[in-house]
Amino acid sequence: MSVATPHSLDEALSALAGQPDAQVLAGGTDFMVEVNYGHRRPTAVIALTKVSALRSWKVDGTHLVLGAGVTYTDMINPEIAVPFPALAAAARTVGSPQIRNAGTIGGNVGTGSPAGDTLPVLAALDASIELRNTAGTMRVVPWTEFFLGVKRTDRQPNEIITAVHLPLFESKQDYLKVGTRNAMVISVAGLALVVDFDGGNVRCGLGSVGPVPLRARQAEAWVASNIDWEHRRVPDPRTYETFGAMVADASQPIDDHRSTAEYRRHAVGVMAQRALMRMI
Ligand SMILES: Cc1cc2nc3c(=O)[nH]c(=O)nc-3n(C[C@H](O)[C@H](O)[C@H](O)COP(=O)(O)OP(=O)(O)OC[C@H]3O[C@@H](n4cnc5c(N)ncnc54)[C@H](O)[C@@H]3O)c2cc1C
Repeated sequence: MSVATPHSLDEALSALAGQPDAQVLAGGTDFMVEVNYGHRRPTAVIALTKVSALRSWKVDGTHLVLGAGVTYTDMINPEIAVPFPALAAAARTVGSPQIRNAGTIGGNVGTGSPAGDTLPVLAALDASIELRNTAGTMRVVPWTEFFLGVKRTDRQPNEIITAVHLPLFESKQDYLKVGTRNAMVISVAGLALVVDFDGGNVRCGLGSVGPVPLRARQAEAWVASNIDWEHRRVPDPRTYETFGAMVADASQPIDDHRSTAEYRRHAVGVMAQRALMRMI
């Protein structure tokens, strides 16, 4: 097996052009588990760990552009955590310090697991995924078009995920997660809530309750029409419970080894209600 360790994105893309079957490795926290279980047998690997450009982030007009190599530990940095508290909250729930130091946003997006903790946050923020191919062409894909099914994404074999674009706006945000214990746990259900005071809307991203991250769009529209945006309050306290029930209805959970569909539906409803009560 050959392993390339490029130092720049151009080098990484040329390595991929030279070996189209090569598989991209970031922190390895999903990749190596699959290798260890024999589910993945790479003949060539392109390791991105030394591509420092992917590890940075910058404000670009109305967006924060987060390099694909940004780790969960980086996401807790105030430069990211202050504008995007839901992303930082999701990052804090991931694995252990070792996993948070190695695991990246590009890897979470690249795996495209329904249980990926950043995915509901990206859905609620209406994020886009930036990719570059071996011909040097860049494309930016809205999250709605990127996640196609369980661990299936729109990334083409000749592409590297280079960044995630997060729109900047004034909001309150949170990420809540239910698992079978408090740490080192893959989510049974996850929920990201964003209350956008600029736009007068509420956005609710759901994880682990469908094949791809979901948005509870009907619940969002209904609750937005029941908020007094001028005074930033919810006039009728029954709104919270109805919102929770509507979010639960928007989920599409299944029974599996981690939980039942029934419990997952209940959990997202409770999380939606709680998150909204904490914010407004
Ligand atoms: C003990 C343990 C606990 C965990 N806990 C959690 C948890 O709580 N929440 C959670 O969401 N996940 C968890 N995970 C899963 C994993 O840590 C995350 O999904 C992580 O974000 C993967 O990132 P990585 O950099 O390690 O990706 P890698 O494992 O290197 O790669 C993952 C996939 O993405 C592809 N890829 C990576 N980067 C790119 C790129 N730039 N361009 C194209 N393709 C790319 C790879 O080819 C591979 O298919 C856990 C894993 C372990 C081992």
